[in-house]
Amino acid sequence: MARDYDVIIVGSGAAGLAAAVAAADAGASVLVVEGEKRVGGSSRLSGGHFYAAGTSVQKEAGVADTPDAMYEEYMTLNQWLVDPAVVRRYCDLSAPTFEWVKGLGVKYPVEGLYCSGVGSVPRGHPPEGEGEEVINVLDGHRSHKGIDVVLDSRVTGLVTNDEGRVTGIRIGDDEASCGAVILATGGFGNNPEMIRKYLPQASAGGDWNWYIGADGARGDGLTLGQAVGGVIDGHDRALILATPGFSRDLEVAMPGWLMMVNQQGRRFCDETAPYIVIAGLLNKQGGHAYAVFDEETRAAARRSPQFQAYWVNDVLEQKADEGRIIRADTLAELAAKAGIDPEGLQGQVERYNADVEAGEDTAFFKQSPMAPIRTGPFYAVEIRPAILCWTGTGLRIDAETCVLNKASKPIRGLYAAGETVGNLHGDRYIGGGGSYGPCLVFGKLAGENAAKYAKELND
Ligand SMILES: Cc1cc2nc3c(=O)[nH]c(=O)nc-3n(C[C@H](O)[C@H](O)[C@H](O)COP(=O)(O)OP(=O)(O)OC[C@H]3O[C@@H](n4cnc5c(N)ncnc54)[C@H](O)[C@@H]3O)c2cc1C
Repeated sequence: MARDYDVIIVGSGAAGLAAAVAAADAGASVLVVEGEKRVGGSSRLSGGHFYAAGTSVQKEAGVADTPDAMYEEYMTLNQWLVDPAVVRRYCDLSAPTFEWVKGLGVKYPVEGLYCSGVGSVPRGHPPEGEGEEVINVLDGHRSHKGIDVVLDSRVTGLVTNDEGRVTGIRIGDDEASCGAVILATGGFGNNPEMIRKYLPQASAGGDWNWYIGADGARGDGLTLGQAVGGVIDGHDRALILATPGFSRDLEVAMPGWLMMVNQQGRRFCDETAPYIVIAGLLNKQGGHAYAVFDEETRAAARRSPQFQAYWVNDVLEQKADEGRIIRADTLAELAAKAGIDPEGLQGQVERYNADVEAGEDTAFFKQSPMAPIRTGPFYAVEIRPAILCWTGTGLRIDAETCVLNKASKPIRGLYAAGETVGNLHGDRYIGGGGSYGPCLVFGKLAGENAAKYAKELND
C-alpha cells in the first residue's frame, strides 16, 4: 500500500529531530510535524546538558566512568522505582549517542564537564551554545537530508487500521499515512488540567507556580498515545524548583547565610545542597519551609552574579514592607506569625548560632559561610517548590521505544521518545542533562527502530 511517509514524527524538539535524522539515515522517508511556528520546543530554551557515562570528553578529562556505574547510581537514587530495562538502555547508549551528536557538529568543551547530579562522577556535558545550538545543528541535518517539516500544525489524532496498528496522523480533517509514528511532543508543563491530574505535588506551589518551558508542552503525546491504548506511567514525577516566589526569576540556589527550617522549626538540609535534592526535601516537609535570618544579615546581603533577584538587602526590605516576608522583633513573635513551633525554632537558632561561632555546621556540613541569627528584627521567608521545569509522567515504553498497552505489549507502529515518556524518571531528577540526554538517546533509537519497522512493512 502506498504511504505518504515511512515515518511521521510528532514534535520537533531534541527527541523529534534526533529521531528524524536517525530515521532518514536508516533509509526512511520522514515527515516532522510541529504544532508551533518554529522547531525546537523546550529543547531550544534548554541548557541542553547531556548526562552520559563513558564519553570521549570524560576520557579527555581523565574521568574513568562506565554505563554500569551510571546504571547503579541511577537505580539507587530512584530506589528502583523506574523501569530497569529502559534505564539500562539509556545508560548503555548514552556515550554512543553522545558521540553521534558530537559527530553531527555539537561541541561539548571538556572544561564544561561537571558533576551535575549528587554523585562524585562528572557526567554533565554542557554544549557550546546550549540547547539552542543542539537544535540548530539537528535541524541543519534535517534540512540537509531533505526531511520534510510542517510547522504550525498540531496533530489531533492518530489513525489506526482494523488490527489496531498505527498507520498515520490526523490534523483536524486532514490525514497523512505512514508505516510508523513517533510521538516526541515533550512534557505537559503548559497544561494546568494535566498538572492537576498527574502531578499532585505541584499543588504545594499554589498560585506561585510557573512553567519555564515551551508553549507547546501541552501533553498531547499522552493524549494521542492513550487514545490508541497506550498507558501512562511515572505518576507525580517532575522537577519543581524551590523559590521565594517574589518574581518569575529562574534563580534557584540559596545563599549559605540563611537557615531554612520546617514547620517544626527544624533544619532539614544543607541550604546550599543541589537543586535536585532541595526540591524533593521540601515536599517531605509538607510542601514548604522558611528561610530565617536577622537584620544584620539582611542588611549585608549584597547583589552578586549568583544572587540578584531575591536574596539582596533592598529586595528583602521591600518584600518585608509589603508584608510578603514575615518580620518580627523577637523569634517568638516570628514563630507565631509563621506558624512555626516556637520552642523548635528557638532551640534550632541556638544550635545554629553555636555552630556559626565554632565555624562548623555540625548537623548538615554546610561548607559556605554562615551567619548568626541574633539581632532583631528577624525575618522568615516562605520557600515553596513552584518553578516547574520538566514533567516526568508520560507514556510507558519498552527498551526499544515502542509504546506499551495495558497488556504490556507494544502498540504496533507507535514509538515515543523524550519528555513524553513516563517510565524512565523516578522521584529524583538524576541531575543536569538527565532529560536532554535521554531525549537524544531515545529519539535516535526511536528513529532507527521506526524506520526499520516501516521498511519491513513495505517488504
Ligand atoms: C529553560 C530550560 C532549561 C533546561 N535545561 C536542561 C538541561 O540543561 N538538561 C536537561 O537534561 N534538561 C533540561 N531541561 C529539560 C529538557 O530541555 C526537556 O525535557 C527536553 O528538551 C524536552 O525535549 P523533547 O524533545 O521531549 O520536547 P520539546 O523540546 O518540548 O519538543 C516537543 C515539541 O513537540 C511539539 N508538539 C507538542 N504537541 C504537538 C502536537 N500535537 N503536534 C505537533 N507538535 C506538537 C511542541 O510544540 C514542541 O516543539 C530544560 C528545560 C527548560 C525549559
